[in-house]
Amino acid sequence: MIKITKFGGSSVANAEQFKKVKDIIESDEARRFVVISAAGKADKEDNKITDLLYLCHAHVEYHVDYHGIFDIIRKRFIDIKNELGLSLNIEKELDELAERIPKLSVDELVSRGEYFTSRMMADYLRFPFVDAADVIKINYDGSIDFDATDENLRFIMKDHDRFVLPGFYGTTPDGSIKVMSRGGSDITGSILARCLHADLYENWTDVSGFLMADPRIVKDPLGIEKITYAELRELSYMGASVLHEDAVFPVKEANIPINILNTNRPMDKGTIILDTIPKDNSKTAITGIAGKKGFCALSFNKRNMPESVGFCRKILSVFEKYGISVEHIPSGIDSIAMVVQERYIKNCLYDLIAEIKEKAEPDDVKFIPDLALIATVGRNMSNRIGTSGRLFTALAKNDVNVKIMIQAFDEINILVGVSSEDMDNAIRAIYDAFVTEAHIA
Ligand code: ASP
Repeated sequence: MIKITKFGGSSVANAEQFKKVKDIIESDEARRFVVISAAGKADKEDNKITDLLYLCHAHVEYHVDYHGIFDIIRKRFIDIKNELGLSLNIEKELDELAERIPKLSVDELVSRGEYFTSRMMADYLRFPFVDAADVIKINYDGSIDFDATDENLRFIMKDHDRFVLPGFYGTTPDGSIKVMSRGGSDITGSILARCLHADLYENWTDVSGFLMADPRIVKDPLGIEKITYAELRELSYMGASVLHEDAVFPVKEANIPINILNTNRPMDKGTIILDTIPKDNSKTAITGIAGKKGFCALSFNKRNMPESVGFCRKILSVFEKYGISVEHIPSGIDSIAMVVQERYIKNCLYDLIAEIKEKAEPDDVKFIPDLALIATVGRNMSNRIGTSGRLFTALAKNDVNVKIMIQAFDEINILVGVSSEDMDNAIRAIYDAFVTEAHIA
């Protein structure tokens, strides 16, 4: 049995967190391959080492003395080292790093957060340290070179049956260090899981998995025990994010489950993410609800639209020209609307409308601002008659006016568009109808 265990920044923020990680690793012999993020925030006032390293680089760029910032980073590492009583001599390496900073690329500099945190963790766990620079190969376009990474791992596995590896970075074909996008250690864990044919990818963070709704909106929402990748994608897109999106693909292809777990509450089951989960008849029917504000719509009317072949294409070509992604297209007989994110459209709204008027000649154009979209997601919803009835009844009972409704054929997501000001109320209403009432009944 092989488990890849990845610990996020808050799980390694200080010596106390390191101890929790050690307990977790030592409680299960399958946890032999460990991926570590850079020390993150121990509390709200704290800073992430990665942020401080980016800040260091900004100082160099603007010719401002960076030593003050670097001293904060140095102290964080040394405090962890001393509190854990590690014998590793990182002081000298940190001092050398401090002097080399102006010559380093930004990627190499920020990668040192993961590098030093992992070195200390390897020492503390008494595991070998393997540098991600020698394992994770990244193409110039940022994609992962799985063949080269696989080969490196095969070579390393000849001598090691366990190791600690820093997340977030790898090397390009010319040997330079390249970091992934923020939160990228999740991706490193996923790559290892796939290349080492792991049975499970454990992603340890500071929450016990996903919740059925945002706890800032719904009081004490239930946790999600199991979720499919497809459901997760629908919910994450609407803002329920715990895991880096790109971490899904490597393990999904290899059919390896991901378990989101909480370093501070290791006994909690967390959430398991799987490719497929058989449908069941659970009372709740839904897996989760997520909402996102910041949408708007442009609605176009044209008399006899069904006869105007090419009308939609002409409108869409203008959106494409302006580089605006159209997220949804609700339509009527003689009208069609494009739902987009407000932030992408606000600077070009008038030009865009003028060009659409010229190209597609609509009879009328309406702008609908301040929309929120709410996704009610569940693999168990499909073919369950009455699901949408329950949802819309709940919204009506709570005086929420529905402006848009969309459901795709896979029937795992019912999307409703409401005024931004109605979003929280709508989410509470849906949660109560599907979860609270189902549990009381
Ligand atoms: N340390 C990096 C960040 O803060 C990567 C990671 O934590 O996954 O984004």
